[in-house]
Amino acid sequence: MRIDLHTHSDASDGTCSPADVVRAAATEGVAVLALTDHDTFAGLAEAAAQAPRSGVRLVRGVEISCTHGGISLHLLGYQPDETDTELLEELGRCRDHRVPRAQQMVARLVSDGLPIGWEQVEELAAGGTVGRPHIADALVRAGAVADREEAFGRYLRPDGPYYVRHYAVDAVTAVRLVRRCGGVPVFAHPGAHTRGPTVDDAAIEELAAAGLFGLEVDHPDHDEATRAHLRDVAGVLGLQVTGSSDFHGAGRPQRIGCETTSPDVLEALLAEAVPQPGRRS
Ligand code: AMP
Ligand code: ZN
Ligand code: FE
Ligand code: FE
Repeated sequence: MRIDLHTHSDASDGTCSPADVVRAAATEGVAVLALTDHDTFAGLAEAAAQAPRSGVRLVRGVEISCTHGGISLHLLGYQPDETDTELLEELGRCRDHRVPRAQQMVARLVSDGLPIGWEQVEELAAGGTVGRPHIADALVRAGAVADREEAFGRYLRPDGPYYVRHYAVDAVTAVRLVRRCGGVPVFAHPGAHTRGPTVDDAAIEELAAAGLFGLEVDHPDHDEATRAHLRDVAGVLGLQVTGSSDFHGAGRPQRIGCETTSPDVLEALLAEAVPQPGRRS
């Protein structure tokens, strides 16, 4: 049984509709799928409607933009109460601040002569959570780069001149918030240093003390040495280990289900999720 607990749809910066993410999971033999769009639950209803038709079990999730000591990190929240006011406010704040941030990045690119505009980025985001991948897609469409990867390497890196930060939730607060509304928090790609600076082991210990469930050790952006180190850290701190594709459709090369989580860990995760009244799955 293949279990993939981190994927994106066009409700954020993936390129497939939520139903198509579920269909892709079924095609690749993924039996349990979590949809974890950036800072939004907007894709979950469509995914939940498609899941039984495709014979896929959906785990409801979100990937929350966080910050710890000035370093940006991503927290996966599984099966939280999607009506929790505080959680919705934080996600809304992240989404809202992503708009002026992307506009500023576009303005910097335009002032350096790149032939893109905010309208194109807005159109490419199509109402979903706006992210750098949409700016990348605008650069691809303009012929400035071949693909998202090249756009990130040349223009969108956090250490580059065009990068602008956006509001993100304090990571310790986010771990507590996810737990408080019945969800299960997992630190996404904690060692993805090719994307920018990552937090140290002391920060992971702090998140563990706040209620973190696990570390996403098996992730396409982690090399073998990083995985081995994170596995050790998880062992020492009593954290579970997950594996996921971080599927973005055509936006990244990885196929859905290319990294997986063990059935034992899934069982432990679902056992810690507090069922929300009125929800069937
Ligand atoms: P943002 O949340 O707007 O800062 O953008 C982060 C998103 O960009 C994440 O979903 C990543 O999957 C994506 N991303 C980061 N680095 C790359 C890269 N080198 N190529 C393609 N996508 C990337
Ligand atoms: Zn993404
Ligand atoms: Fe992420
Ligand atoms: Fe992701």
